[in-house]
Amino acid sequence: MIMMEEERNRTVCAIPFRLVIVKTLKGWIDMDNFRKNNGLRRRVLVIDDELINREILGNILNQDYEVSYAADGQEAMDLLHSGENVYSLVLLDLLMPVMDGFQVLNNMKADDTLKTVPVIVMTSEVDAEVSSIRLGAADFITKPYNMPEVILARCQRIIELSEDKSIISSAEKDILTGLYNRSFFFEYVRQIEKYDAVHSADVLVLNIDHFHMFNEMHGRKEGDRILRKLAAVMQKKLGETEGIGCRIGADTFYWYGNHMEGYEDVLASIQEELSGKDQSKRVRVRAGVYQNVDRSAEVENWFDWAKQACDQVRGDYSRQLAYYSSDLHDKSLYHEQLINDIDEAIRNKDLIVYYQPKYGIQGEVPHLRSAEALVRWKHPERGMISPGDFIPLFESNGLIQRLDHYVWQEAAAQVRKWKEEFDVSIPVSVNVSRIDIHDPCLEEQLRSILEKNGLSAEEVMLEITESAYAENARGLTEVVERLREQGFRIEMDDFGSGYSSLNMLTTISIDVLKMDLQFIRNMQKDDKSLKMVELVLDIAKFLKVPVVAEGVEDEVQLQLLKERGCDLIQGYYFSRPVPPEEFEKFIKDEIELSEE
Ligand code: C2E
Ligand code: MG
Ligand code: MG
Repeated sequence: MIMMEEERNRTVCAIPFRLVIVKTLKGWIDMDNFRKNNGLRRRVLVIDDELINREILGNILNQDYEVSYAADGQEAMDLLHSGENVYSLVLLDLLMPVMDGFQVLNNMKADDTLKTVPVIVMTSEVDAEVSSIRLGAADFITKPYNMPEVILARCQRIIELSEDKSIISSAEKDILTGLYNRSFFFEYVRQIEKYDAVHSADVLVLNIDHFHMFNEMHGRKEGDRILRKLAAVMQKKLGETEGIGCRIGADTFYWYGNHMEGYEDVLASIQEELSGKDQSKRVRVRAGVYQNVDRSAEVENWFDWAKQACDQVRGDYSRQLAYYSSDLHDKSLYHEQLINDIDEAIRNKDLIVYYQPKYGIQGEVPHLRSAEALVRWKHPERGMISPGDFIPLFESNGLIQRLDHYVWQEAAAQVRKWKEEFDVSIPVSVNVSRIDIHDPCLEEQLRSILEKNGLSAEEVMLEITESAYAENARGLTEVVERLREQGFRIEMDDFGSGYSSLNMLTTISIDVLKMDLQFIRNMQKDDKSLKMVELVLDIAKFLKVPVVAEGVEDEVQLQLLKERGCDLIQGYYFSRPVPPEEFEKFIKDEIELSEE
């Protein structure tokens, strides 16, 4: 006789037996070993209205499993829903009072947690077997139960199959959001592409702006909630395009689906569902779209391109979505070429340093005081490239350091050469990018260039652009202090073009202010700009530092600045940046002037 009640009441730890490998704090553990070591057994549920059948089956199954019993469908559903135990397998009779087996199968199939529990149907009718398999039963066992070993073997096989399936699906999913993880996502995209090259496909990259800040302000739990929500909305929308999604990194999501015309509405509804009532917890989702993917390119490239579009709208509050276009494509190929070519350009000296003179204008006649080193790229295929094309690119990927070190060395060598040739010292300013500033070897690098060329620190001046001041004010102040202690002269470049200038001037000591050329450009157009110029000159007077006005192109501008006490002028009025040979003319003129 089987002791059903006793069995039911025995408290066996409710471990999710269906997962063979489970993630714990210590890593992945093998549940089979864990079970053996801890004397734990899987639990199965026998549903049959006839006591004798329950007893016979129970006797067989008891050898390997914990067994629970239900006498009809309703009782079984109550047990399954109670969550008291986790069942590895259900053995189900079809003909029962109250609720029959078909209904149980239907109910289980409709329930997200129960639909993965495998069911073996017990029946003596062949027709019923077929329809129950259609309803999702994993297998069937025919009555009467006269081959216990066969029953046990079938149960074991079905449990193993279902556990394997659940391991696979847990390994391919991102635990937090339930979307695919990177490797499975790419694999599935490739599979779909293999079988369906008929439909055009689109890919999207979605990202939450400043998500790290949201996490810091509202905590990780709240951050996780947002990520789950985004994934859920995305999943819903993906369903409409027969697509699949993935969480690729912390707050970056990939979308792959059938082609659609526009994604503005999709993004708007994602945004709307994410924005709860609490204004302070609003997040902004941005997206990059690459439509009608080019099937001759790598799948990974599609997403790189969508990401490039997505990066276009980073921090741009006027738009949240950008499409990858052929322009952007050409630009990215161009950038790729420049990145590939930089080393060779340095080796071959295709990077040429031009010099633009700075003239002192407060005397009766202007005097050459110094020059700024400005790089040009004489590309073997693309011709002359201006720094506006490659400096921001190299600043964004760190290559700027290599370029700058090269320019500093070239400029120092030039100062040395002129010194030897003309017996005068023309100090040259070099541009120092914000990435150079945070390089711990910056001072050493500069010192070694000076030593190599036998120059003193005043002969190579350093222009630091204003945007660098905003980024890491404290770090910059320290670096500038140290450089000044070593005798370097610091010029604040593009003063007035950003937000940081005034504030920075209270904490940082500089030697020269370079007024942004926008002021000069607008000076004659409106009173406000002229007032700004006067203001900058006043600030410099207060700080007792000279001002260089950049971008001076004509006599009127020069006179306006001279009258207001501006010390130095750099601009097309005197000269465009020119190669060193051409610059020598200015040196010779200056020497002649001083000999008069
Ligand atoms: P910047 O340092 O503010 O250099 C001044 C820019 O203004 C130069 O542009 C110069 O040609 C231009 N300019 C000078 N006078 C006039 C004028 O009268 N009218 C007009 N319209 N423009 C004038 P360029 O050479 O194209 O350089 C642009 C920027 O690229 C530079 O701005 C600097 O930030 C960066 N750059 C140039 N060379 C280097 C370098 O070797 N290293 C780094 N890190 N940046 C560099
Ligand atoms: Mg400059
Ligand atoms: Mg400038």
